Amino acid sequence: MHYIKRGTASKKIKDLLESSNKKHKENWKLYNKAKKDNQRLPTKPSSTWNNDIIRNELKILFLKNCGYCGIHTDKGHEAEVDHFFPKSEDLEANLIYNWNNFIWSCPSCNRKKSSNYPIINPCDEDEMDQIYFHSADGRYLPFHSSTEDLKTKFSNTEEYTFINGKNRPERREYIYRDVLENHLRRINLIFSLFEVEKEVKGKNSKEAKEKFTLFQTRKNDFLKLIRCGDYLYLIKYIMDDYISENPNFPFNFDQAIEDSQYLEQ
Ligand SMILES: [Zn+2]
Repeated sequence: MHYIKRGTASKKIKDLLESSNKKHKENWKLYNKAKKDNQRLPTKPSSTWNNDIIRNELKILFLKNCGYCGIHTDKGHEAEVDHFFPKSEDLEANLIYNWNNFIWSCPSCNRKKSSNYPIINPCDEDEMDQIYFHSADGRYLPFHSSTEDLKTKFSNTEEYTFINGKNRPERREYIYRDVLENHLRRINLIFSLFEVEKEVKGKNSKEAKEKFTLFQTRKNDFLKLIRCGDYLYLIKYIMDDYISENPNFPFNFDQAIEDSQYLEQ
C-alpha cells in the first residue's frame, strides 16, 4: 500500500462525472433506498466509473497497482474501480460520481472490502504517514505512536483487504519467495527427519542415535531461525500452509515460538 497523490481529474472526466451526476444521482438514491429496505430493485443506474477514460486515468495514477494490497494489475489481472466510501452506504448518492472516491482495486480486495468502512485511504497522506512496511516481519503495520482512530482503521484494512496477504505486495512477494525457497526446504527436511526419528526412537544402534541427533540439530536450527525474529510472520504463513498439508508435522508455529525461548544460546 503506497501513498497515491491523487490531484484533480482531467476536464473530460470532470464533465463526464458531472453530467452523470445530474442524470443519475436521484436514481441512485432510489436504488440504494430500495436495496436498504429490501424492496424490489429498480434498474441499476449508470456505472460511469467503468468508462475507459476514467479507468485509464486511474490505472496510470495507481501505477497499475491495487490501491489496497499493491499487487500489480495488468492484462489478465484487470482491476476494478472501487468506491472508497461504499456505494451501498451512500444513501444521498453524494460520492457515487466523485473522482476523489475512486480507488483502483484488484478484484479480490474489491470483493473482500465490499461495503466495509472505514479503512485506510491510500490517497490520504496523513493516514499513510501513520503506517510503514516492516521489512523483516513482512507486514504493513501502524506506528506505536499512531492515533487510536488510525489503528482501528488499520485493523479494518487488514480484515477487509489483502494489504497483508501473504504474497503481496511486490516487496513482500520477494521476501516471501526467498523465505519459501530457503526455509521451506528446512521445514521439509525436519519433516523427513521426523519420520526417521519415529523409526529410530528408542533404538540403540549407532546409526539410530546418529539420525536422532541429526533430527534434533535440524530442529534446533529451525527454532533458532524463529528466535531471531526475521520474517516471522511469513514463516508462520508457510508453516500453517505446510501443516494443513502435512497434519502429522511434529510441532506448530506457536509451539515453535515457545520452544525457541528455551534453546541454549
Ligand atoms: Zn488488492
